Amino acid sequence: MDQEDFVREMRAGGANLDARGHFGFKVDLCAPMLGNNQETQGVISLGGITRHPKFEKRLLSMMADLGAMSLMNRRLMDEQRNKANSDGLTGLITKRYLQELLGEEIHKSEVQNAPVSLFIFDLDHFKKLNDTYGHLTGDRVLKDTAEIVRKTIRVGDISARWGGEEFLLVLPGTPKEGAWRAAEKVREALARHAFQDDDGKPIGKVTLSGGVAAFPGDGRTQSELVGAADEALYHAKRSGRNQVLMAQPKYFSD
Ligand code: GH3
Ligand code: MG
Ligand code: MG
Repeated sequence: MDQEDFVREMRAGGANLDARGHFGFKVDLCAPMLGNNQETQGVISLGGITRHPKFEKRLLSMMADLGAMSLMNRRLMDEQRNKANSDGLTGLITKRYLQELLGEEIHKSEVQNAPVSLFIFDLDHFKKLNDTYGHLTGDRVLKDTAEIVRKTIRVGDISARWGGEEFLLVLPGTPKEGAWRAAEKVREALARHAFQDDDGKPIGKVTLSGGVAAFPGDGRTQSELVGAADEALYHAKRSGRNQVLMAQPKYFSD
């Protein structure tokens, strides 16, 4: 493709580009980087060409093909990594990947002297829900719960499926009280949600119990922090469910 082809393409409405303005230079030659289905993934454009070696178009086209292959490989790798790191049912990230990210967040907090909080929660009486409505409905509730979490939390917060009906959220830059408020929003949204069984019939309220812990007050390591949040979750269960409690130092001496 050379300048004339390109301009012709533009005039025909094929490209929404200004040959000079978009690239910031006058394009002498360009080649599309085509994907498997012949879709354009990008364009290599050359300008300021003073010499015109033989086969210049063929050479550029080969370079564009190589570039397209790299882009496709990169995308494939990203897709595989995302698949490996996300839970098949809810689409949230896995426990293993969250542990990796949490380690990084704790390190960042330490270096930047900023808070980071954890919110762990577990659905109440989930076994009974499964027994009453069946596993498919249980799975649907887990999916909806993940969706509610996604809609409720802030960009930058990280949410994972921690286990069966347990979820863990990391809230970077958020101190404990702020994290508790965010956790309450999730709890309220869940309690308000009109869950349905697999046939679309209402199944009543689903509630959660949760615990919140913050770095560095409740722990300086990943396991200390998760332990502190877990302890608060345990107390939330024991004292009536459908609530979120903050980790308290006294819990350690219980
Ligand atoms: P509590 O209020 O004390 O948390 O009671 P619970 O019944 O929620 O707690 P328990 O740990 O006794 O039961 C958890 C249930 O979650 C048991 C298990 O069958 C169910 N569960 C775990 N993973 C999945 C899943 O992927 N899909 C479905 N449908 N159920 C699951
Ligand atoms: Mg559980
Ligand atoms: Mg439970």
